[in-house]
Amino acid sequence: MAKKTVRDIKIKGRKVLVRVDFNVPMDKKTREITDDNRIVQALPTIQYLVDQGGKVVLFSHLGKVETVEDKAKNSLAPVAKRLSSLLGKEVRFVPVTRGPELESAINELKEGDVLLFENTRFEDIEGKKESKNNPELGKYWASLGDLFVNDAFGTAHRAHASNSGIASNLECVSGFLMEKEIKFIGGAVDNPVHPYIAILGGAKVSDKIAVIENLLNKADKVLVGGGMMFTFLKAKGLNIGKSLVEDDRLEFAKSLIEVAGNKLVLPVDTLAAKAFANDAEFRVCSVEDIKADEMGLDVGPKTVELFTNVLKGAKTVVWNGPMGVFEMENFAKGTVGVCEAIANLKGATTIIGGGDSAAAAIQLGYADKFTHISTGGGASLEYLEGKELPGVTSIANK
Ligand code: ADP
Ligand code: MG
Repeated sequence: MAKKTVRDIKIKGRKVLVRVDFNVPMDKKTREITDDNRIVQALPTIQYLVDQGGKVVLFSHLGKVETVEDKAKNSLAPVAKRLSSLLGKEVRFVPVTRGPELESAINELKEGDVLLFENTRFEDIEGKKESKNNPELGKYWASLGDLFVNDAFGTAHRAHASNSGIASNLECVSGFLMEKEIKFIGGAVDNPVHPYIAILGGAKVSDKIAVIENLLNKADKVLVGGGMMFTFLKAKGLNIGKSLVEDDRLEFAKSLIEVAGNKLVLPVDTLAAKAFANDAEFRVCSVEDIKADEMGLDVGPKTVELFTNVLKGAKTVVWNGPMGVFEMENFAKGTVGVCEAIANLKGATTIIGGGDSAAAAIQLGYADKFTHISTGGGASLEYLEGKELPGVTSIANK
């Protein structure tokens, strides 16, 4: 179902409430923003609303706020500053989440003005009002504006007062970032162009069970790498030495191998190391030859070749989970190899979901080689699992 966007409504002169995802990483001591990507990603929507003459009221959560002490280190004040310099215009910061100070600041806004109010999770200190979607709070925030724009895909998998709560009281449309996430991830889930190849990796099978199951149903091939490959290899009866394994998922892995048949493609070689460290001694070996004192920290070159061949001709590729411990240079080659294979595809829609996977693609220099790198970690995973996301569901249909 197509969702309404900011393009479908009148903005001029109206008070526009905008839920953005400004949950940026900050230095623990200095409270400096260490990566402003999430602010940058929200700019197109904010700029559009400013250009259309809206009175823009922004809000977001930042970190977890459980005690009064958590407030100081999770204030959005530094974000207002950074946003102001990125936008090249004043952003008024209001240090509260409700009450007369906020209400009069909103009423004073002129067309094209931008205001950011304090961390929505300050409302969690007493009774988790934001995170538990307290209906009074959603209703109150909704009363502050004329319409609601949700551009925070990163929290779309949660029903909170600042997304679903407001949307139950005020018409909700998507911003450009949310629209893009729905188009690409939603498109791959509901309507993929075949051949459709899924690549799964990362640390644990248990985190990804629902994703694996859903993608095995939808995709033509599922390639498995990363730490999770060893649970599958052990399920096949191979020795995996000291590699990461989840023994309580062996039965699950066995049954998937049986059901999936040759749809499931497992690695044929690995980088077997003596320790979990970049400077550990390691060698390339077949997955059938891992020694008792070794652990597999990456897929090997033959696996990269195998995966590259399977990927040839793909029209949709969805990737979640790095192929190895990419944070260590010696064990990043498998992930780089798969990035390279995807970069060389012609006319394919290629999507990365998952926090570490997105970080890997960016860090390894492949950010512009993908059609879409999702901004949502948990949200993109749940979307790929085929679940309904409350933040997406509450956006009005066209
Ligand atoms: P995402 O956040 O994209 O969903 P995950 O959190 O599931 O991905 O997995 C990422 C982590 O998996 C990385 O920190 C990476 O080092 C780790 N990993 C990948 N391969 C291995 C491996 N062979 N052994 C141990 N850890 C691994
Ligand atoms: Mg992760």
